[in-house]
Amino acid sequence: MSSELQLIHSEILECTKCDLHKSRTNAVPGEGPHDARIMFVGEGPGQNEDEQGRPFVGAAGKFLTELLESIGLKRSDVFITNIVKCRPPKNRAPRKSEIEACNPYLQSQIRLINPRIVCALGTPAITTLMGDEYSASRFHGKPLTKGEVTFLPMYHPAAALYYASLKETLFHDFQILKKLSENEEALHPDAPKSVEPSEKKQTLEKWA
Ligand code: URA
Ligand code: SF4
Repeated sequence: MSSELQLIHSEILECTKCDLHKSRTNAVPGEGPHDARIMFVGEGPGQNEDEQGRPFVGAAGKFLTELLESIGLKRSDVFITNIVKCRPPKNRAPRKSEIEACNPYLQSQIRLINPRIVCALGTPAITTLMGDEYSASRFHGKPLTKGEVTFLPMYHPAAALYYASLKETLFHDFQILKKLSENEEALHPDAPKSVEPSEKKQTLEKWA
């Protein structure tokens, strides 16, 4: 892991910037290769994640692993994190103030990892990353390229555990992810991945 990313992750582990720190067992910074080309952003840690300090390790995580495998990816190929790094009590939805307090960590992770594709899982992640006018129901599977990052909104894998019909939708949207990542390779086979961090940061902040 790049040392800057490592530093941010240590900060997250000790963070007290919002009330969610009071009830957490462990903060969950996220995990995956520091130069991952694909990043997944969920809503927030649940009970298993809070206990283990790792993202998507419960039932939703198992389904996410299945979805990844359906397009030939392993969990360890991608970076996985959440819009809030500490578990909201009783898994309630994170509040706007909590999301805002935590968002600088997410933006730094995106800037440092510099992925080509960011998959936003569920409406809270979608609105945080793309803007309030976006939602899973209306925009799932519809990629939006901003600057050099393509955002792909999707339903949250946990939603498919409640509404079985969404499973098929998610498998379908992962096929879109597969095509996007293949096009990415085809368009820029040898393209250097890095840009000036300051330039990248500006682009990100516009739609943060
Ligand atoms: N749901 C999420 O949104 N994130 C996790 O890390 C686990 C379940
Ligand atoms: Fe800090 Fe984010 Fe945890 Fe709030 S949720 S305490 S901002 S790491």
